[in-house]
Amino acid sequence: MERNINTIGVLTSGGDAPGMNAAIRAVTRSARYHNMNVVGIMRGYQGLIEKEFVKFTSSSVSNTIQRGGTILKTARCGAFMTPEGRKTAYDNMVEAGIDALIVIGGNGSLTGAQLFAREYDIPIIGLPGTIDNDLYGTDSTIGYDSALNTIVECVDKIRDTANSHDRIFFIEVMGRDAGFLAQNSAIASGAEAAIIPEDSTDVDQLAEFIERGKRKSKNSAIVLVSEAQKNGVGGAFYYAERIKKEYPQFDARVTILGHLQRGGTPSAYDRILASRMGYAAIEALLEGQRNIMVGIKNDEIVYVPISRAIKMDKPINKELIAVLNVLSM
Ligand code: ATP
Repeated sequence: MERNINTIGVLTSGGDAPGMNAAIRAVTRSARYHNMNVVGIMRGYQGLIEKEFVKFTSSSVSNTIQRGGTILKTARCGAFMTPEGRKTAYDNMVEAGIDALIVIGGNGSLTGAQLFAREYDIPIIGLPGTIDNDLYGTDSTIGYDSALNTIVECVDKIRDTANSHDRIFFIEVMGRDAGFLAQNSAIASGAEAAIIPEDSTDVDQLAEFIERGKRKSKNSAIVLVSEAQKNGVGGAFYYAERIKKEYPQFDARVTILGHLQRGGTPSAYDRILASRMGYAAIEALLEGQRNIMVGIKNDEIVYVPISRAIKMDKPINKELIAVLNVLSM
């Protein structure tokens, strides 16, 4: 179904991720190419509710592709979780003449988008912007590759001191429900193990790691750990405490990388991914697509219904677990 779209709104929401600016730039320039007006919405859904609208031109996004963070700012917005908040957002969009919305964010942001699109007749296109890589239907999310590179750079530094002191370092990385960052940064940094949520119910990953360690001649170790679950189980401190109690012969230390992982200049991969996805978002609107997330599969752009992207669990490739186990000998 073709639909006349004169003005699009673009926002970033949830946690910021390197590459979001490249996505905003691509959306803006592609829309301008097709003579659409572009409204930049500040602070995610908060700005939609509070009418923080900025007219965007091609030059609004000049000199931004290399910058981390998001020029549109981002926020977590409780009001958008209420029907009243979404009604205000809709009324403001109508008043500003915004015909379609591009939402760049993670699982929560796209869940909000899905609800909004169900309640009101607005075409919404989602772009996966999160360092966690936890959205179904896309091989990679915008920001994931940059965060991975940041983590590996940090782990390389910690490795030097771990070696010198014969210590076990538990390095905590983001991804409460998804172990992509922990597992792949462990492989990339030559770490001894990764403790990830996907494996947490099946095995005691700490006991397994210690057992594997007995066969090795190494005295120091690096273990990448995903953040604690909401019930407090997991996380680097949890495992370091267990080492103290259950394996007191080892000297364990903790490093939490925290927000360091979100910052910094986006990698070339993320800039290209964000550029392709932003371009595809406008193409999708022109084709009459709505309520889809733009993804990438086997280097091809794909459209995934937002409902699937947010509901389906994205499985971690079990081969990655085998690769780490074998190569960390
Ligand atoms: P990240 O992956 O970086 O955490 P995210 O998009 O998942 O990003 P959230 O904090 O979960 O981040 O969500 C961002 C915003 O999306 C929320 O502050 C809220 O405004 C909106 N949102 C999230 N869940 C819902 C929901 N169920 N209904 C309506 N809006 C929602």
